[in-house]
Formats: sequence, structure tokens, C-alpha cells
Amino acid sequence: MNIDTIELSNTQFEGKNNAYLLQGNEIALIDTGVSTSRSEEALRTSLADHGLSVADLDHILLTHHHEDHIGLAGSFQRESGATVHAHSADAPLIERESEAVDRFNEQQRTFFDRSGMPAGARQELLEFLTQLTDLRGDPADLISHDDGDIIPIGDQQLTVFQTPGHTLGHIGYVLEDENEKELFAGDSLLPRYTPNVGGADVRVSNPLELYLATLRRIRDADFDRAYPGHRHIITDPKARAQEIINHHRERSERIIEVLTDSAPADAWTVSAELFGDLSGVHILHGPGEAHAHLHHLTQNGILTEEDGTYIIESNTEYQLNELF
Ligand SMILES: [Zn+2]
Ligand SMILES: [Zn+2]
Repeated sequence: MNIDTIELSNTQFEGKNNAYLLQGNEIALIDTGVSTSRSEEALRTSLADHGLSVADLDHILLTHHHEDHIGLAGSFQRESGATVHAHSADAPLIERESEAVDRFNEQQRTFFDRSGMPAGARQELLEFLTQLTDLRGDPADLISHDDGDIIPIGDQQLTVFQTPGHTLGHIGYVLEDENEKELFAGDSLLPRYTPNVGGADVRVSNPLELYLATLRRIRDADFDRAYPGHRHIITDPKARAQEIINHHRERSERIIEVLTDSAPADAWTVSAELFGDLSGVHILHGPGEAHAHLHHLTQNGILTEEDGTYIIESNTEYQLNELF
């Protein structure tokens, strides 16, 4: 199968989005970028460069529910009749089932309260999040999957590879032949940034634990290559997964230092110490990331939590290495 990267502009999230075009005797697109005319034009132009149009798409595979990955799926599906695929845990949000969206918004409000987010920041964040709705485009009609499902692409196939943490239903897709094993990784493995955990999907109750398990799974799967949702192709996924695990261990060490100096502290306060002033989506991602760590450390007996504030458990001997 021939694989091409399509770079799409996007100024709101982790940097330019990648969509991947897979051509065998059927045509598949992995992720679609945001629903803006600029992004749509770039995708159409890129398809045309390959002698294709949107109508030629047979399958659209989505890695997770974020707008920068799903935006054009609904309208492209209408135009092409393509099947659209996602994980069962993210599908209700991509299809915009009202019950799932309401519950998500409610969980987000609960998170704002518990993290100690000040009213001004919360207002700014809500205004930002409202603007994002347009980027989601029309909802697609999905085929939902679980780990290990096989998706035939003509005479070849992709295997669903569950990678939760960044979102609850995040998945990658594995393409494997006798020579190579490759992962379309979405935002589960990025070459430059560490994907946000904690703020990017407030439905996940143990985001860091789940994400660390995902990183170990990627590390141990011996992929030859990973195609991320943003930026350049990762040529050593094993090393990159380990690097992100190490990064999270260092971040937890830093959080313990912050709490040594200024406990009790809530997620907002810890986030401010780590990341300083935040704007846009980072108002959510900063305290979300702090919360993910605080929760992980609490679950492992290193911290104690009361009403959203944390202190270091006294007299605890701990080995952070064992948690990461
Ligand atoms: Zn994402
Ligand atoms: Zn993304």
C-alpha cells in the first residue's frame, strides 16, 4: 500500500495536522484535519495531486474525537459514501450524540471546579471552546471498533491498536507485512511535544496511568515507523515512547518539588508553577496535565488529596521509577 502524508494547516492545536492517504486497490484517509475552507482546499488539492478526488475515498479512519482530526469526515463521507471508523468510546462524541456531549460538558465543568480554575480563566476557556465547535464540521456516521478489530482496505488490512490516555477512545491503526510493522499513531505519539493527558479528555478518570500503559504498549510492539497526527514521521517509535515516559517521570518529580514548597495546592496552582500563565486551550491542558500527575501520585500513595488539594503523604518512602 502506498502511503502519503498530507500536511494541513491548523493554528489552534499541536501544530500542523497530518492526514495520511493510503492507496492500494481501495483508497483510505487517516484523519481529516479541522473543518475550515483552508484545510478542505489543501486536502482536495493534495488528493488531486495524486489523481484523486474526495469521491474516490472508500474509507476514512479516525484516531480520536478531537476536532483537528475529525473535522471533514462528515462532509467527505456524504460526498464519497466512504465508511468512517473510530473507537467505540470516542464514537458518541464524533457523532455528537446529545447525551454524550451533555455528559462531556458536565464532566468538564466538574473538572474546572475541582482544579481550582479562577473565574476569569474559566470564562476565557469557555469562549475558546465554543469557537472550536465549528471546526468539528458535520458529524459522520460511524462504524465503531474495539482493540484488535481488522479493517479491510481492499485486498489489504489495518488492525485497530488501542492507545487510550490522550482521549478515552484513542486508537492507532497498524499496517503490517512480512517486512515492516507501522503505526498510524494519531496523538498517542508525537515527535516533538508530549501529547496532553488529563485536559484533552476529561472523561478519563486515570489519564496518566492509562497513557503510560499506552506508551509501554507502543514501546514493546517493535514498530518500524510511526505516522503521528502532527509533525514529522517517527523513525524510532520505541525510543520516542520511552523518552515520553521519562519526560513524565521528570514532570512528576517536579510536581513533588512544587508540593514540597507550597502544599496544600490544587491542580491550578501546580499548573501555574509548571507552565506559568496560560491562554486558549492551554487553560484546560495545563491544569489537566497537573491533575493527571497529581491523581497518579495519589493513587500510588505518594500524595493525599482532599477536596481537590494535594499534600505529600508524610513518612512515605517512594521510588518514582516504579510508577513510570
Ligand atoms: Zn488530540
Ligand atoms: Zn491533534
